[in-house]
Amino acid sequence: MTRPELCRPVPVADDASAAYWAGAREHRLVIMRCGDCAFYVHPPRAVCPRCQQETLVGEEVSGRGTIYSYHVMHLPGVPGFTPPYAVAVVELAEQPGLFAVGNVLDCPPEEMATGMAVRVTFEELAGSDMTLPQWSREQA
Ligand SMILES: [Zn+2]
Repeated sequence: MTRPELCRPVPVADDASAAYWAGAREHRLVIMRCGDCAFYVHPPRAVCPRCQQETLVGEEVSGRGTIYSYHVMHLPGVPGFTPPYAVAVVELAEQPGLFAVGNVLDCPPEEMATGMAVRVTFEELAGSDMTLPQWSREQA
């Protein structure tokens, strides 16, 4: 029997994202930050989009954010995901416009709302050594 979670796509780390994935394995949210202008950059890349320097280094952030936008997927088609499920765009607390994409694991799609406070959580991906930064509702 094939379980859906075993069919789920698994991320592959590259040079730019190595710090992000290594941090996730340690249950730390690590975001690239420019050593010259202190701008946070995500998704990871080699060059700062603000000052064009190549001095980005991984830095642990608070793991707090708010739901900026979301979309509820109703159609099947992505291996390992059973609809309906929500894909959230989270604006991280550290910088306006700094976004991460993921799922809010403890929130049914019908309860998703923009502006909802969330905190990072970590999901171990079955069948791999990858850990995925995900989100959970912030407890008041
Ligand atoms: Zn910069």
